[in-house]
Amino acid sequence: MYLLAVAIVSVVPALCQEETYNYQQEYQPTYHLNDAYNPFFKETPQYKEEEKLQYSSFEQINHYLLDVERLYNGTVKSFEIGHSVEGRPIRGIRISKNPGVRKPALLLDAGIHAREWVGPVVAQYAIQQLLANASNANLTDGLDWYILPMLNPDGYVFSMEHPPARLWRKNKAQTFVNYCGGVDLNRNFDYVWGGPGSSDDPCSTNYRGPYPFSEPEAVAFGRFVLSIAQDLRMYLTLHSAAQAILYPWGYTNLVPPDWQDLDALAKKAEAAMSLVNGTRYHVGPTTKLVGLGAGGSDDWAKGAVGIKYVYTLELPGLFYPEKGFHPPTEALPIIAREAFEGIRVFAEHARNRRP
Ligand SMILES: [Zn+2]
Repeated sequence: MYLLAVAIVSVVPALCQEETYNYQQEYQPTYHLNDAYNPFFKETPQYKEEEKLQYSSFEQINHYLLDVERLYNGTVKSFEIGHSVEGRPIRGIRISKNPGVRKPALLLDAGIHAREWVGPVVAQYAIQQLLANASNANLTDGLDWYILPMLNPDGYVFSMEHPPARLWRKNKAQTFVNYCGGVDLNRNFDYVWGGPGSSDDPCSTNYRGPYPFSEPEAVAFGRFVLSIAQDLRMYLTLHSAAQAILYPWGYTNLVPPDWQDLDALAKKAEAAMSLVNGTRYHVGPTTKLVGLGAGGSDDWAKGAVGIKYVYTLELPGLFYPEKGFHPPTEALPIIAREAFEGIRVFAEHARNRRP
């Protein structure tokens, strides 16, 4: 276990600090899980329902949201927060057992980075678990959920429909450089925008845009968060593939004054996740584990909006090609189940916490 931990620590910064990535370069496995540890290719009959998990197209994600609204009419309300550069709707749902009664709320999003396909899978799995698994009914007692599985539709569609763009990360905005489009939406938020770990070069995968909140996707999300901010007790944003639970800051090596509260809760969540199959996630501040990255939605949610508990859940990538952004479908049930156990811990804390 010690060796494994060392191996992960040594590769995590390389995964996320890169400025550019040549998708044609030969894939180098970042870390291997030993056979005893790797659960993904074994029989897992107890997960029959989840074994149906797969990557979804943008249309399938939206249909799913509308389907659950129809199916759970009265508890689920779907909504649209705005549109992408190319005009695609950015949708989410609210799950609320008593919509008329104000309650603490948890916000869960995914898909701000186009290539990180596993995040939307986990977001949809969370919806399914909250609505269809009776043993999770307590998680929606006294807690409203806002779940937005796809914040960057254009980039996602691009990465799915154009194989050479599989590793596309940004949105599809035009820039002042004709041949380099796209803004990294997770560098476009207005909290210490332009700081370290973001680029002013449109050809960079971390291009932050011409000014804070220059991108319609980030504006839509920012406005939406502000509209529910009074009730928000927790913000969880799904990324991949560093296999880590991160808390602010991303713009500096410093940590917020209440970092020990965030750290303790994250460790509790990680411990719960590890009980599913033994998978261990790293826990720590963003900058320490994956490097600097100013302008992220997480820093903004804590620093500008004032939400105390803000986490980036970096899902695993494993040893699959393409730098881990495409775990095999056999791995999805386990990844989702592990993530949901962490989300459960965060949700229980959000529900019990006073403003
Ligand atoms: Zn990401």
